[in-house]
Amino acid sequence: MSSTIFQPNSTYSFQCRSPLCLYYSSSKNQCLEQIISSYIHPFGPGELPLSITSKSDLFIPCLLVPHGAYCDSGPLYAHAYYWLSKQTCTYDSALILGTNHRGVGSSIALSPDHWQTPLGLVECDTELLDALVSVGIPVDREAHRQEHSIENQLPFLKHLLPNIKTVALSFSSLSIDKAYKVCEQIKKAIQKLSGKRIVIISTTDYTHYGPSYGNRKQQQLTDNEQYARLCDQPILKSILSNNPEELLHIQQTTQHTMCGLWPTIIVLILSKLLNDDKGQWKLLCYNISSEIMKRNTVDVNGFASLVYDKLVKN
Ligand SMILES: [Zn+2]
Repeated sequence: MSSTIFQPNSTYSFQCRSPLCLYYSSSKNQCLEQIISSYIHPFGPGELPLSITSKSDLFIPCLLVPHGAYCDSGPLYAHAYYWLSKQTCTYDSALILGTNHRGVGSSIALSPDHWQTPLGLVECDTELLDALVSVGIPVDREAHRQEHSIENQLPFLKHLLPNIKTVALSFSSLSIDKAYKVCEQIKKAIQKLSGKRIVIISTTDYTHYGPSYGNRKQQQLTDNEQYARLCDQPILKSILSNNPEELLHIQQTTQHTMCGLWPTIIVLILSKLLNDDKGQWKLLCYNISSEIMKRNTVDVNGFASLVYDKLVKN
């Protein structure tokens, strides 16, 4: 199927993108139950999110969250959305940066669609979409059709902020120069929308290891858990030091199996660019999938939630 490229300020042929529901329930009640149990899970924040207040704040928070199945990584999503609930601002819109696992369509792809979720519709923010298109970022519906990394954020987001709008932007393979260029474009687009309160949500999962991923050297769960931790440590360190070049170098030289390299690089660059370097990345949690849900498998995934928070002045 060919890609559809839209021009700035055109009349969008909005569609409603149906949820794939591969990693959470399509039933409203069961989906809500999965979200709530993620918040109160022993590996989660331990309580439900707070009601968000409506003070004004120029800081644009950035989240880097998992997109695994809720049964494996829901409590880690919950840590990031709980953190967001503690910020002193309500949000009009979320720009969600996802990974294009299959490499279908444009390597940089805005979605022109509204997103249906089991908890109701999340509308596309047409104002933000137009601004992003006007600075040259392409729209490609096909890149989003079978992808789950952005979709998986929406039930948590809708539960926390029922009226929030969103724009979805996915990435497959880029170059570091292209990544810096698209971040400058995003900054320019956001600057056109003074007064709109935006949160940036990006997503990656870390080490994928075990027989199901084609790795047969290790067979013991504890060995595989240890291997994932060892692989993920330098990756997390480069994120915490906000060093996209180092992250790229480590991923390439170690053949690290994180699936959201480019959305991670983009959010690192953007966090600094949008906030004049007045924040810092913090690790909220890191766990291996097997710790969250004990299963009869030796396959392991590393999951983490990180946030770009304001620098605390001493
Ligand atoms: Zn993935």
